[in-house]
Amino acid sequence: MRIGILGSGQLGWMLILEGRKFGYEFNVLDESRGPAARIADSFYPVSEFRKFVDKCDYVTFEFENVPVEALEYAQSQDKLRPGLDSIVIKKRRSLEKKFLKDNGFKIADYTITDNFEDAVDQAAKFGNAIIKTSESGYDGKGQLHVVDGNYSGDKLEGQEFVVEKFVKFQYESSIMISRDIEGNVASFPPSFNFNYMGKLRHSNSPLEAGQMSEIGSRLVSRLNYVGTMGIEFFFDGRDYLINEFAPRVHNGGHHTLMGFSISQFAQHVLAVSGRNVLQPRQFTPSGIVNIVGREIDDQLTTALLANEETILYNYGKTPRKGRKLGHVNITDKTIEGLRSRISKVEEIIYKGKPELYF
Ligand code: AMP
Repeated sequence: MRIGILGSGQLGWMLILEGRKFGYEFNVLDESRGPAARIADSFYPVSEFRKFVDKCDYVTFEFENVPVEALEYAQSQDKLRPGLDSIVIKKRRSLEKKFLKDNGFKIADYTITDNFEDAVDQAAKFGNAIIKTSESGYDGKGQLHVVDGNYSGDKLEGQEFVVEKFVKFQYESSIMISRDIEGNVASFPPSFNFNYMGKLRHSNSPLEAGQMSEIGSRLVSRLNYVGTMGIEFFFDGRDYLINEFAPRVHNGGHHTLMGFSISQFAQHVLAVSGRNVLQPRQFTPSGIVNIVGREIDDQLTTALLANEETILYNYGKTPRKGRKLGHVNITDKTIEGLRSRISKVEEIIYKGKPELYF
């Protein structure tokens, strides 16, 4: 079985690490050679997308901003999984919001405009709001928090803006959910996510089930989705509002690499290759700490590997402030024990000063 991955970041890297279990071959297409390209069976530059698609049995993607011509060609050959609709909706925030609203999913109140000054006026009407560029925003990029019409920082550049009412959430959470070609759906238990400066800093699972799996199941079925999807939620004390979904494996599911019968990555590879998804079992509470903007040198590696309940994933990327460079998987017998281990690992990485690195 030959799987093609569009994009060569760490998500592709972990898809390959996990998917090799099944004896599959992995080919990667990208502009430059990221972590996935370094361990793939073969690498193709974007100009060779036809050759790449022709060689693969199925093609998937690990990032939304991959070349459209490659996606369209893979779809035309009936090889793209998940299909083009889910990524087209996702590539434009306004389409994602509209899709969710039109299909009865609960989300934050929002408006759409093509003019930044107008977006600030709309935000002032909400009182407390976030303006987001419709395209190419992720990990809190392309976002501005506006309170009573005031904001600090630069105005946003873009063709279209989504203005979202600020949700006073009790917590943020996510689920990873997978659907196969026969329509079977399997959800991982939800995790609690702690975001810092727009990025995931740590997560732990399980969290109370709530209605997240039911909501997720409706979403993947509505999209006729094949593969693993990440869905982020705000819980406001009453409802689970969808913040956004990612039509791919997701940082909110890295904890499934440890303490589970199957990971989000292996599940995605099974689904896109036409096999049935499995019902994941969680053996022990499990979480992660992201390593952001901090070189993973030998000393840090030794400190992080000094414990049986943790394992380091180093993506091998060049350090830069705000860049996700790796993560640590952590387990414990109890959720309290897990949370305490997470704090210790954060202390080892950030020494009480995450603001220097995020
Ligand atoms: P996003 O890139 O849309 O996932 O946003 C990144 C982070 O910004 C989220 O995980 C939240 O912590 C915060 N955020 C985004 N939108 C809202 C909102 N409408 N209300 C409150 N916080 C938000």
